[in-house]
Amino acid sequence: MNCPICGYEAEVKRTPHTFRFGDVIELSYSCSKCDFKFSDIVSTIKHQEDHEFYINAPEKLNTRIVKSKNCIIEIPELGIKVKPGDDKQGYVISVDKLIDKIKTLLETRNAPEKEYAISKLNAVKTGDFAITVSLHDQDKNSIISI
Ligand SMILES: [Zn+2]
Repeated sequence: MNCPICGYEAEVKRTPHTFRFGDVIELSYSCSKCDFKFSDIVSTIKHQEDHEFYINAPEKLNTRIVKSKNCIIEIPELGIKVKPGDDKQGYVISVDKLIDKIKTLLETRNAPEKEYAISKLNAVKTGDFAITVSLHDQDKNSIISI
């Protein structure tokens, strides 16, 4: 694959993940010349467009999420919405790491309620606050593996 930014030819790393419903390949691409990074997932199975998972205990933080680059993530309890424009990457990630990623995204926003949202996300990790993780993917490539 050629880098979409500088055209340099670079290698694509393929990481397979096995789920109950089948296999998902995670593709990650990193240009050694200009530092452009891109990742997405390839799934041969189509799922529903909408998924919801309730996180009310620390052991649920290990639940894996397959997020395609066009997936919208919402946490309705905190009014959080991560659109593809905020994070145009696809990956396989645990709920725990996804919470860290959302915290990093919130840090870059200038919203007055972000401190509250970040403190509540920290409370989810200790089981002191419960959230719903909701995925919407019109391409039907995303899933929460429960
Ligand atoms: Zn490049």
